[in-house]
Amino acid sequence: RRSVIPSSRTPHSNPEYQQEAGRVRVAVRLRPRNLEDRISDSDFADIVELQPELKRLKLRKNNWSSESYRFDEVFTETASQNRVYQVVAKPVVESVLSGYNGTVMAYGQTGTGKTYTVGSLGNDDASERGIMVRALEDILSTTSTAFDSVEVSYLQLYMESIQDLLAPEKINIPIHEDSKTGEVSLPGASVVRIKDLDHFLQLLQIGEANRHAANTKLNTESSRSHAILMVFVRRSVQENATDEITSQEKTFRADLSVRSGVPVVRKSKLLIVDLAGSERIDKSGSEGHLLEEAKFINLSLTSLGKCINALAENSPHIPVRDSKLTRLLRDSFGGSARTSLIVMIGLSAQHYAETTSTIMFGQRAMRIVNMVKLKEE
Ligand code: ADP
Repeated sequence: RRSVIPSSRTPHSNPEYQQEAGRVRVAVRLRPRNLEDRISDSDFADIVELQPELKRLKLRKNNWSSESYRFDEVFTETASQNRVYQVVAKPVVESVLSGYNGTVMAYGQTGTGKTYTVGSLGNDDASERGIMVRALEDILSTTSTAFDSVEVSYLQLYMESIQDLLAPEKINIPIHEDSKTGEVSLPGASVVRIKDLDHFLQLLQIGEANRHAANTKLNTESSRSHAILMVFVRRSVQENATDEITSQEKTFRADLSVRSGVPVVRKSKLLIVDLAGSERIDKSGSEGHLLEEAKFINLSLTSLGKCINALAENSPHIPVRDSKLTRLLRDSFGGSARTSLIVMIGLSAQHYAETTSTIMFGQRAMRIVNMVKLKEE
């Protein structure tokens, strides 16, 4: 006998876990200085000082004063891709393997290393692989190909339209929200069952090429769209198997009163999101398509910011319905789902305003204690 459990909807009796799951984990990563920074900033002192041992970042306000901000982790420019993965994404991946939904998101100005951190394929050097590849590597090595399944959809969200990066002819894919379970799905998007890591790497490469082609056709930059990888994990677990049972798993089983010896199928979903560049688009002088773009381009990003502010302020109204991005995140962000945000910054003094706004975005996300509301709205 099998019981299929939409596990992310399971309420938790363990308050410690609930709090841990409800809080967004926020890390900051500083991109190494590039040649352009070095040339343009030769006269400027650094605007941020990292204190990784204190998990703090000092932002220079002016020549005389600076302000300190605390994060869950602060990565200096020498942090490896592996370390970033282990700290930011691995806990979310483990939670997904235990049957909970989860989200990992990268936020920041264009050029600060979001795509490098999240989507790098590491074609020439595996140590450069980003979060998407490392997550799949972990998921595939933990699941059994015979009994479990790992499937992916890869999408681009541009001007409130969802495009399939694995089947570029599919555009304007509608979002379906199950009124009973609250489960969010994209029935029109292609879902590919992953055979092994090479298969996944090929798909990512195809997705990247399609993204490039679609954006050339639309005459826009990839930095203006969000790239979203959805990973659907389905695992069969023998209840009497005692290996790898974590305390989280025990709580999960206790919650469900699962009886020993009954095989359980666990379904969960991981979203890995490379957000559009957070820089403001100058609306002045834009006409036609560009003006339209300026209005809609960051609707999803603005809406994400509004939801984060509302959650941080414990507001009774969380405007999740305002954009496609927040609707997509609805069942994977908050409640029992685990969420990690990595905010990306550079050192260039000419981007002081954008850097400050990125740090503030991260700080507001740090204040979110209970995200259960995201589901209630
Ligand atoms: P974004 O996606 O935020 O626009 P990218 O990921 O494209 O930024 O990064 C901009 C450039 O900086 C790329 O050439 C990328 O390879 C490089 N880069 C970013 N972060 C790092 C890093 N930690 N180490 C080495 N190169 C990096």
